[in-house]
Amino acid sequence: MTKISWPDLPAAQQPVWPDAGELKRAQEILASLPPLVFAGECDELKTRLGAASLGNAFVLMGGDCAETFVANTADSIRARLKTVLQMAIVLTYGASTPVVKIGRIAGQYGKPRSSPDETIDGVSLPSYRGDAVNGLDFTLESRTPNPMRLVDTYNASVATLNLVRAFTQGGYADLRQVHSWNQDFVSESAPGIRYEQMAAEIDRALSFMTACGADPEEFKRADFYASHEALLLDYEKPLTRVDSRTGNLYDVSGHFVWVGERTRDIAGAHIDFVSKISNPIGVKIGPKTSANDILELLKKLDPNKVPGRLMFITRMGAKNIREILPSLIAAVQETDHPVLWVCDPMHGNTLEAASGHKTRLLDDVIDEVRGFFEVHKSMGTHPGGIHIELTGDDVTECLGGIGGVSESDLPFRYETACDPRLNRVQSLDLAFQVADMLGQRS
Ligand code: PEP
Ligand code: MN
Repeated sequence: MTKISWPDLPAAQQPVWPDAGELKRAQEILASLPPLVFAGECDELKTRLGAASLGNAFVLMGGDCAETFVANTADSIRARLKTVLQMAIVLTYGASTPVVKIGRIAGQYGKPRSSPDETIDGVSLPSYRGDAVNGLDFTLESRTPNPMRLVDTYNASVATLNLVRAFTQGGYADLRQVHSWNQDFVSESAPGIRYEQMAAEIDRALSFMTACGADPEEFKRADFYASHEALLLDYEKPLTRVDSRTGNLYDVSGHFVWVGERTRDIAGAHIDFVSKISNPIGVKIGPKTSANDILELLKKLDPNKVPGRLMFITRMGAKNIREILPSLIAAVQETDHPVLWVCDPMHGNTLEAASGHKTRLLDDVIDEVRGFFEVHKSMGTHPGGIHIELTGDDVTECLGGIGGVSESDLPFRYETACDPRLNRVQSLDLAFQVADMLGQRS
């Protein structure tokens, strides 16, 4: 295997591993293991993202803020997949637009934190940085970073991706299953009922096509890609390989990786890392981003101006998006870079409830997406997709929605290991609203 050498650059948000020998062993194991994805699949995704950058497709990215090993079960994976498939069909049918489906899944195990330590009752311990690094329990043993967790992350991700591939290629994602994704608690909700009506229309259309003798292969499976934040370079680098066809580097830990708002320093190790891999990549863009930051990122990350290569994931907050986004789009318009703009309406809208729970209002989430569509319409550019933290379960982490979650409900099912996620009903509600925005664009 070719040894890749990386420059020694400052890397923000990296764990302090207590045992360098153990880290080296973990990295050697990772470097010897097979890829999770193929370079050809990454290229195919890049082509689809290129179509989205031109307004000919829409990207739906969704999944946990932080995956955890205990929640990596068949039921949980199926429920998340079902949520994304339901949302995707609402968008596809509602707006007659192809939807590129990407999970925040099979690798989303590392988290940036605002403080390296957490103090409870006078005791300070390292902050939880995701299951790839340490445990959530507030004990010294659990919070001490353990590099063998990187290998556990690989194994958990392999298991997840295997099931995702089986579900999406093996009949579960067949369009004729469109009703079955709507079972359980979601079917009783107002968005679930609206979905059922739409599914009945799709069924009728499919029966008509079958009666005409058409039975397209495309209806039998769904293309579903895996993405995560490329945060832990001790995980990503050993999983980066030279593609034998082209000699290019690919991070084979997922089809798509992004750099977070806190690690996008133009001179730092994360931006250097993604500049060298050939996967399609994203960068999170917060409200403090300047036009100059944008220009530097374009130059460094997409020098060849390849459609679908670079996604800017804006996470401005509902209050800021209409004011800040136009000047950033204008900066791109002065170049001829084919950027794909995707809206993350979650991370700029986090607030603390009176109970102390970190939460988000579905109304703020929807308002940020609406602002994103409005700005793109006024600038003559394409709103290319949404990036959502969601789960398939009936959790009570975000507030609002039709018959939705109120502040007093928050403690009932607050299960996230990090940020609050939309539950399945809220996700479906959002999908119908975005489908309306998408149908009315241009
Ligand atoms: C995230 O996506 O979970 C995250 C930490 O986002 P950001 O980098 O935008 O803060
Ligand atoms: Mn998050």
